This record gives sequence, C-alpha cells and structure tokens, in this order.
Amino acid sequence: MPDVPELRSTPAAAEIAERLGSARRRMARAAERAGRDPASLRLVAITKTVPPQRIAEAVAAGVTEIGENRVQEARLKHSSVPPGLRWHLVGHLQSNKAAIAAELFDTIHSLDSERVGAALADHRDPGRGPIRGLVEVDFTGIAARTGVSPDGAEALVQALAGRPGLEVVGFMTIAPAGSPEAARDCFRRLRELRDRAQQGLGRALPELSMGMSDDFEPAIEEGATMVRLGRLIFGERAASEVRPPG
Ligand SMILES: *Cc1c(COP(=O)(O)O)cnc(C)c1O
Repeated sequence: MPDVPELRSTPAAAEIAERLGSARRRMARAAERAGRDPASLRLVAITKTVPPQRIAEAVAAGVTEIGENRVQEARLKHSSVPPGLRWHLVGHLQSNKAAIAAELFDTIHSLDSERVGAALADHRDPGRGPIRGLVEVDFTGIAARTGVSPDGAEALVQALAGRPGLEVVGFMTIAPAGSPEAARDCFRRLRELRDRAQQGLGRALPELSMGMSDDFEPAIEEGATMVRLGRLIFGERAASEVRPPG
C-alpha cells in the first residue's frame, strides 16, 4: 500500500498559501504590463487584527515583511511572531510612541511631521543602522486623513535629512476608495511628486509604497515598489477595520 502523505498544513494555512501565490502572480503580471521587473516589487503583508498563528502560516508560505497600523498591537504580537521578519508601520505615528516604534520597526511608512521623524531618529539604536522612513502624502484632502499635503512633501524630506538615525527613502500614499480611476490618478501623482523631489533635492528616493488589496495592480503599473496587502492575503477583517478613513 502506498504511504499516505502526511498532512502538514491546516486548511487555513493552505488557503493563505494559495492566496499569496495568486497575489504574487497578479503582481508579476501588473509589473510585466508596465515593462517592470517583478523582482523589483515587495509585498508587505498587512497583519493588523491577524493573530500570530495566522501570521506564522503566512511566513511559512513565504511572507518576509509584515505591516501593522498600530504600535501597541505590534508590541503585543512581536514576541509571538516568527523572528527574522521585516516589520513595517503603516498607520499614523505619534511622537510619544516614537521610542517604541524605533525599536519594533524597520520601516515607517507614515512620516508626516518633522517632530515625529526627529523623535524616531533620536531613539533609534545606532547599532541597528538608520530606521527607514517614507513621507506619507495625502492627495484626497479628506479631513480625517493623515499625511502631508503634496505641497509640503519635499520640504519634509529636506527637513529630515542629515539625521544618522533616520533615512528617508521615498513616499507613501493611500488612494481614495471606490474609484479605480481616482486611485490610479493618485498613484501617478505620487510618482511625479517623487520624480520632482529627486530633482529638487538631488538625491535618490527610490521607494513608493502604494497599492492595497483593491488597487495594487494600477499602483504597480504606476511605479509602486511596495504594495501593502491585507484582506487579499488574510481575508476580510471586522467591519470597523476594513479600511483607513476615506
Ligand atoms: C489596512 C491597511 C492596508 C491593507 O488594506 P487591505 O485593503 O486589507 O489590503 C494597507 N495600508 C494601510 C495604511 C492600511 O491601514
């Protein structure tokens, strides 16, 4: 009688692996449509509200970078999630949490003031190298939204330069929900803003964090280097957590 293969993974783990594979294929196709190398893209799995067990399943399926939107949640999960991951903060950061954030995270996607950037830089352990930061830009003007206005983005990069504890590597945005065309417009504007900032400041700002479960394909076509995927990998969250304001 042939050996019955050992069942290694739970159905839920197999589902995460399948969802991840499908997301990666769609990412690669979007890159190819734009004539970009799929290897230049990074998938940040957004794990807010996802328990450590499921994060471990995603890691077993190949996830190496995870993103949380709250410092406190990241802190609670940190020791129960597999080691060796890159941690990203994608939600708003207040300077009173900068010390913990500088310890927990490798990359902060939500820089929106000199104050918070300076606090991160000051608290970063020099032995770990600078924390990477992205300036968050809001194109929607929705009052509840965080991020700097497009007019203020380049000045903030400039104001945060020259601090050993922080390296600003690019920009992040959250597109308006519900309109693929408006989302694409927003992604194009972020890329153009980045191109102008590189010219104006005479330095490279290679990273563009843009695109979520509903809009990562146009984001990649417009130049995203990091996409932030939550529901596409882990399924729907509780209603109150579905999407940031706007
Ligand atoms: C929740 C969240 C995401 C992921 O959203 P999905 O629609 O689940 O992919 C990405 N970026 C930020 C800033 C988020 O808060």
